[in-house]
Amino acid sequence: MSSPTIRRHSVPVRVGGIAVGGSAPVVVQSMTNTDTADVEATVTQVKQLADAGSELVRLTVNTTEAAAAVPVIRERLDAMGCPVPLIGDFHFNGHKLLSAHPACAAALAKYRINPGNVGRGKKRDEQFATLIEIALKYDKPVRIGVNWGSLDPSVLARLMDENGKRAEPREPTAVMHDAVVTSAIESAQAAEALGMPRERIILSCKMSGVQDLISVYRDLAQRGDYALHLGLTEAGMGSKGIVASTAALSILLQEGIGDTIRVSLTPEPGGPRTQEVVVAQEILQTMGLRAFTPLVTACPGCGRTTSTVFQELAQKIQGYIRTNMPIWRGHYPGVENMNIAVMGCVVNGPGESKHANIGISLPGTGEQPSAPVYVDGEKTVTLKGDRIAEEFQTIVEDYIERNYRADRA
Ligand code: SF4
Repeated sequence: MSSPTIRRHSVPVRVGGIAVGGSAPVVVQSMTNTDTADVEATVTQVKQLADAGSELVRLTVNTTEAAAAVPVIRERLDAMGCPVPLIGDFHFNGHKLLSAHPACAAALAKYRINPGNVGRGKKRDEQFATLIEIALKYDKPVRIGVNWGSLDPSVLARLMDENGKRAEPREPTAVMHDAVVTSAIESAQAAEALGMPRERIILSCKMSGVQDLISVYRDLAQRGDYALHLGLTEAGMGSKGIVASTAALSILLQEGIGDTIRVSLTPEPGGPRTQEVVVAQEILQTMGLRAFTPLVTACPGCGRTTSTVFQELAQKIQGYIRTNMPIWRGHYPGVENMNIAVMGCVVNGPGESKHANIGISLPGTGEQPSAPVYVDGEKTVTLKGDRIAEEFQTIVEDYIERNYRADRA
């Protein structure tokens, strides 16, 4: 797979044991939607997100109870062998919560600060300084995370005022974009003036429109070498959220912009929170930036596939890989680079299968009821009968064991 991009230079930041920025690969992160004060539910969800491949997990820390729960959550995760760094998301009262709960301040690996929600007027600077001082005291990095929905009104008012005095005023949208970036950069400079090194600052400027996000991040990337957290905020639900996030993130990632990503999907009622992790990984993997899990190439089907056999097989293999990946990650290093092809008929089936590590070409309508299997480009066996799916799964398992087992000779 050819490498699509040269990464923008950014100052590397360590978040717990995870490197963000510099020459590190783009990091996948996610956020819980449980009540953080509910230790049981939050530990369960963080573990699910980490098992799905989230390398950092953010929690809302909005109340005394949530702040008190954070160190307990950390302990419980450590006891489960889940070291994923936890990030605290603070708005309005972060300075108070972190001051009153030193165990919370110590247990978190990073604090997210929203400059638009730190406070107003004189209090803004004092409360921002308190957050930075606590981060310095506990050796924690911070993310200065601007969100256009909670943009610092004083920055916007100042830039609008300046714009009004220009001979040729800019469009209001351009001023708003500028205000979002300016708020992030000025807050980062204020943190640095308070003693926070640049190696402990990550910036983000989240927008909910694809073109707005692209424009703002291009500007942000040009105006400094801070490590950048990238994500489309309020992306939405289902295919809309996935498509919008993918469109925005892939353009910026292709330009080398973004050191860590989060896909902000609204889950379907009862749907898994882990979907945002899967989508983030798939964006990076399909772009050739990172590999997380074996990829299944499947044809879309057409009039030559009037049964659902190949759809079911593709779905079964994909589910089997996702379920087993948390274990495989430790036992089979490199398995994430494997490609599996599940094809619907003889037209493209053998060709595509030969290009994969393992491929199966199922019989299309009117074809012989047999399915040739290709391993590393060679046809090895032809499967027949009702147990094609199970037999193909065994072939995949044997291949992984043979080629990726950590202690193989
Ligand atoms: S491989 Fe066969 S079944 Fe699949 S889309 Fe192409 S022609 Fe249709």
